[in-house]
Amino acid sequence: IKPVPSDLEIAQAAEVQPILEIAESIGIAKDDIILYGPYKGKVKLDAIKHAPAGKKAKYIDVTAITPTPLGEGKSTTTVGLTEGLGYLGKKAACAIRQPSMGPTFGIKGGAAGGGYSQVVPMEDFNLHLTGDLHAITAAHNLTAAAIDARIYHESRWSDSFLEKQGLTRLNIDPDNVSWRRVVDINDRSLRNIIIGMGEKADGVLRETGFDITVASEIMAILALASDLKDMRERIGRMIVAYNKKGEPITAEDIGTAGAMTVLMKDAIMPNLMQTLEGQPAFVHAGPFANIAHGNSSIIADKVASGYVDYLVTESGFGADIGMEKFFNIKCRNSGMIPDAVVLVATVRALKMHGGGPKVTPGRDLDPVYKEENLELVEKGCDNLMAHIKNARRFGIPVVVAINTFPTDTPAEQEIVRKKAVEAGAFDAVIANHWADGGEGAADLAEAVIKACEEPSNFKYLYDLEKSIKDKIEVLAKEMYGADGVEYSAEANRKIKQFTDLGYGDLPICMAKTHLSLSHDPVLKGAPKGFTFPITDIRLSAGAGFLYPLAGDVRTMPGLGTKPAYMSIDIDPDTGKVTGLF
Ligand code: ADP
Repeated sequence: IKPVPSDLEIAQAAEVQPILEIAESIGIAKDDIILYGPYKGKVKLDAIKHAPAGKKAKYIDVTAITPTPLGEGKSTTTVGLTEGLGYLGKKAACAIRQPSMGPTFGIKGGAAGGGYSQVVPMEDFNLHLTGDLHAITAAHNLTAAAIDARIYHESRWSDSFLEKQGLTRLNIDPDNVSWRRVVDINDRSLRNIIIGMGEKADGVLRETGFDITVASEIMAILALASDLKDMRERIGRMIVAYNKKGEPITAEDIGTAGAMTVLMKDAIMPNLMQTLEGQPAFVHAGPFANIAHGNSSIIADKVASGYVDYLVTESGFGADIGMEKFFNIKCRNSGMIPDAVVLVATVRALKMHGGGPKVTPGRDLDPVYKEENLELVEKGCDNLMAHIKNARRFGIPVVVAINTFPTDTPAEQEIVRKKAVEAGAFDAVIANHWADGGEGAADLAEAVIKACEEPSNFKYLYDLEKSIKDKIEVLAKEMYGADGVEYSAEANRKIKQFTDLGYGDLPICMAKTHLSLSHDPVLKGAPKGFTFPITDIRLSAGAGFLYPLAGDVRTMPGLGTKPAYMSIDIDPDTGKVTGLF
């Protein structure tokens, strides 16, 4: 086994090409790029109009088995497959999410892929990039400030004074403000806060809290908007609070929709970067996959699709979450129909699904994960098979990518291959892109090219006209394997309220744990015989979905005892970043 240097070492040793050359390699005009230094740029939306007529890339979604702390390498495979397609001489690009700095400094480290399948410059990718997340934070908090300013001023002034200013009293209920504040750092102490303490002039006292920026509805909108006009309209439709009669108040009512869109005018343009082997990487938007839809932007896909033959994108977490939302929410909004799904699995993670012991970060891995254990792999394949069957429900061919780790044995990999094909995968291929880049993903790329030529029979999982409860039931029974659904009184009340308000025909964006096919993170493999609990249901009227909550889903992560930031530093002589992985 040849040694592979760290992700950061590989990325820093790479010969990064000027981004204008990357754009040119697929025919994007120089005038359609706004440079942010030599190696990254934003692509103007005009590039969609300037694409060669009739060109439409084959469209591939990369998803995975249920995540475990052992990692599946989904981003690594997305980048590796793009490099593999390039290795075979195809014009390929990937479209991926921009990571949140919360996980980068918290538990995960970087998210630019890994080994010889990365997006570079990886420090830029993982940190500020071109400032899109900061723009979202600013836009979001502008509205938070505006809501509290309005509550304060309405508490002081008469109707006639407000009318003289051209304002109608909104009567915001301070106990029913759904818009919270955001920051792109894991900060558990901000989950619940009290604002407006001090003098009367310091604002109205109320309880609220912070979410992480990627949980903002504006992030979900950035990923789903089709153009600036659509973004402006969606931002205006966002429900930010309710009045004292319980009626919704939108961002348009508060008066910040225009200003928020102004703050987002550059963020709407996808960022162009490159893989280690010089394929274009469109990096744009990064909504959470548990409470939002977890997919990169429609605009980036539309730009890229006009210039390459193969466009590889990635959806967050396991196929029950990111891929389901990719199909039922993102594709429904974009009208773009994928040609193939790539489902990433690793032998190690399947062993955990088969009953392997818990993994504690910072501790040595149990030998079970380093030695051959055919029984655990075989049992764990239940999880893989459930995801393959789920993906097949959408009528798209599924290729399983077995992301090779040095500890895998050929017999273990063969079990995964056999089980995948048995469950209906078009093919299952061993992929070595982490160690070998594009060459290591050549077999995977070949299988994907073939899968893209298969007849597709694409269908959504549910019709939008179905009732909210019917749609939830389809997801619970068909995707997660539940026997039925139970609703809290609050969920029932909200379902009635949202249906009465006319939002019953929106798609469902389920907020549930990513660590199990079920709602219970402890249940590995392919759990059966459980009732799926809906505790609450919320509305993102601007993004355009309803999100039921199945249990406790956090919108602001916390930091662990020894977070990733403790290893990150800079060499003061060279300016080189160290310790980012
Ligand atoms: P995901 O997208 O599933 O969260 P990533 O692609 O971000 O996973 O990979 C997580 C980490 O695992 C990265 O640091 C990457 O270098 C490492 N990794 C991925 N694939 C492999 C592999 N085949 N062998 C060793 N390490 C890998």
